[in-house]
Amino acid sequence: MAVYLEEVGGLKCYRSPLFKAFPEVVHGFFTRRGGVSSAPYSQLNLSFSVGDLPEKVAANRRLVQQALGLDSLAGATQVHGRREAVITNAPQALAPEIPEVDILLTSRPGLGLLIKQADCQAVMFYDPARRVVANIHCGWRGQIQNILSEAVGCLKERFGSTPSDLWAAIGPSLGPCCAQFRNFRQEFPPHLWTYQVRPKYFDLWGLSRDQLAAAGLKPEHIEITGLCTRCRGDEFFSYRREGLTGRQGAVIALRQ
Ligand SMILES: [Zn+2]
Repeated sequence: MAVYLEEVGGLKCYRSPLFKAFPEVVHGFFTRRGGVSSAPYSQLNLSFSVGDLPEKVAANRRLVQQALGLDSLAGATQVHGRREAVITNAPQALAPEIPEVDILLTSRPGLGLLIKQADCQAVMFYDPARRVVANIHCGWRGQIQNILSEAVGCLKERFGSTPSDLWAAIGPSLGPCCAQFRNFRQEFPPHLWTYQVRPKYFDLWGLSRDQLAAAGLKPEHIEITGLCTRCRGDEFFSYRREGLTGRQGAVIALRQ
C-alpha cells in the first residue's frame, strides 16, 4: 500500500501506511496548502526563519496542532548537524525553538515533533516496543554524516530501543528526478557516488533506505513515500524550485 492523502481538521496531509497498524501513533506529512501565509510563503509555512510574519507562522502551527489533536508542538532550529534533543515537557505555544538540533525524540503522549523542510527529508521513527517516536531533519548534508544511524543510536541509548523493532517513513523530499549535484565530487564522499542514477543526479531516497537498513531496521519496516517536492509545486514548498519560499511540516506524536 502506498502513501495516501487525507484531510484532517481542514488540512491535507500525506500518511504512511506503515503507521496504520499503530493506533497510538499520530502523524502527517503536511502539504503547503491550507494555512494563512501569503506569497512567497503561501500557505502553510511552518518556519520562523524564512522571512514570513511570525504571527502567521504561529497561526499555521496552531492549525497543524489542532488538526492532529495535539497538546503541543516542538520544533528546533535545524542546522544539518548530528545533535539530538529528547523532549519531555510540553513547550508553550510560542516557546523558542530548541537551538541547533536535527534529531527530535519523545515518549510523551500529545507532544508533536515538528520537522520543517522544503526538499530535505523528514524521517519519522516509531518504536512500538518502547513507545517512543522520533523525527529527523535529513538533508544531503545530514546523509553524508549518516544522521539516520545517529538517530538509531540515540533511540538505543536513550530509550533502550532495538533497531529491528523500529519503523521508519521517509517523507516527501527531493527525488532522483530532481536531486542534481553539479559538484558532487567535492560534496559527496566517493562511497556515495554509487547512488548516481544518471550523470549528476542522485537517489537520496535509496541512500536513506540503505542507511536505515545498515543501522539494523528491517527492509519491510522502511517506507519511502516517493513524492518529489520539486516536481509537485502546487503541493509542496521546494527550495530548489523557488529559492525564497516556505517550509512544510512533518509531525509525529504519540496519541494523548
Ligand atoms: Zn522531481
